[in-house]
Amino acid sequence: MVYKRKHEKIRSTSKWMGKEKPKKPKAKKVTQKLIDRVARVFQHWIRLRDTDENWYWLCCTCSTKVKYDEADAGHFLSRRHKNTIFNEQNVSLQCKKCNSPWWWSGEQYKHSIYIDNKYGKWTANQLLMLAQSIKVFTYEELIEIEKDYKERIKLLPKL
Ligand SMILES: [Zn+2]
Repeated sequence: MVYKRKHEKIRSTSKWMGKEKPKKPKAKKVTQKLIDRVARVFQHWIRLRDTDENWYWLCCTCSTKVKYDEADAGHFLSRRHKNTIFNEQNVSLQCKKCNSPWWWSGEQYKHSIYIDNKYGKWTANQLLMLAQSIKVFTYEELIEIEKDYKERIKLLPKL
């Protein structure tokens, strides 16, 4: 008579008949790194949207002419607010000086004026209210946003 070792016995009588128990797919994690990656694609699109066919346009807060690859996509309400981080009205072409955290001469106020002129009165106010809501992105949602803006960049006529 052959005695099975204990673990073999347990294995053979287990519900999975000795097979590995199928693993539940792990929910993919939303990391700051992923948010930053998606934000880079989104901001790239904003800079392309806001420049002309020669890749130039005016900074939204000081009106200096800037080139697409030397400018930023500046947020009116900072990227800390997840509910407005990918809001197209919240982000505009901005020179690096105006977008610098060390530079302050009322840029946020000027940005709000720019937004209201471009999208209609009270838009900046509405963005302020939107930014108060807590937004928690899922992994899938972020991947979808990234895919969408990559597509939109490809579809831009000047590329
Ligand atoms: Zn500027």
